[in-house]
Amino acid sequence: MDIGDLAERVAQGERRALARAITLVESARPDHRDHAAALLDSLPKDRQALRIGLSGTPGVGKSTFIESFGMMLVAQGLKVAVLAVDPSSTRSGGSILGDKTRMDRLSRAKGAFIRPSPSQTHLGGVARRSREAVALCEGAGFDVILIETVGVGQSETVVAQMADIFLLLLAPAGGDELQGVKRGIMEIADIILINKADGDLRAAATRTCADYTGALRLLRKRPQDPPGYPKAMMVSALQEAGLNDVWAELSALTEWRKTNGFWDATRSEQARYWFEQEVRNTLLSQLESTAARHMLAILGAQVASGDMTPSVAAERFLTDLKNSNASKS
Ligand code: GDP
Repeated sequence: MDIGDLAERVAQGERRALARAITLVESARPDHRDHAAALLDSLPKDRQALRIGLSGTPGVGKSTFIESFGMMLVAQGLKVAVLAVDPSSTRSGGSILGDKTRMDRLSRAKGAFIRPSPSQTHLGGVARRSREAVALCEGAGFDVILIETVGVGQSETVVAQMADIFLLLLAPAGGDELQGVKRGIMEIADIILINKADGDLRAAATRTCADYTGALRLLRKRPQDPPGYPKAMMVSALQEAGLNDVWAELSALTEWRKTNGFWDATRSEQARYWFEQEVRNTLLSQLESTAARHMLAILGAQVASGDMTPSVAAERFLTDLKNSNASKS
């Protein structure tokens, strides 16, 4: 495989090359991993996209919003990529996100690129591949990268750690619905969008927006928030209403964070976070190896029978694991 050629074509923004490059980073084959690393390394380093994380439960209007919002940005001459982080796709046997047919107009628009979620066995794998896909889209010169998730398990945290700005999409609700949103998700949202603020739902949307505006005020202030943030806004993805306001807010927030140093600081912190995650994942996968399981079983039995103390056995295990890794490489 000619990685230099592929890197060049990705850098020129060729969508087919980008699709191929993403397939490469999604592969778990060791030779593909080597190629992927070389590819990522040879991408232009001076390009920065606005990475927007977007979460919301199924049915809230994510694909409708991405389509309307994406089309608006494309009409302004911006290049828009859409990626999905969907840890549920393995469980359900099919992806509920990133389905091209859901975003019909956008998938055909020049200047847009939509990539369905890879099916993976665990969130760690999805996270790495998504992160690398983001880097590829950035290297390909996209201006805006929308990273969508349904928020299953920890997927919101994963997406927030690869996004510059995080949007939470909610539907208008009555009564106690506020309780239904996990506090942790509120805490990572920069803007909460109350979607479907149209027709009969408009009054409920107005109430929901007021409720969340109040709830957000009670959260601890984060240093990376300018006055008035995080905030709640109303939109109608279906009627394409309020989308310009969302873009204006995103642009203002980006500008403020760049001017005040939070943009770069966040990206540095994210890089450090992913480095530590990679180390953790690698160590955990070593624990899953047959040799490690075997050693755990033997030493575990000795601990259980009282022949060895837990700490001595643990030390022995770690030494043996290191030796077995050393003899492999
Ligand atoms: P997703 O599962 O979060 O991607 O949600 P979809 O985008 O597929 O939307 C789910 C349903 O909500 C569809 O029937 C949409 O037509 C509808 N919907 C999405 N956005 C709006 C909106 O702004 N207003 C109204 N009234 N319906 C919407």
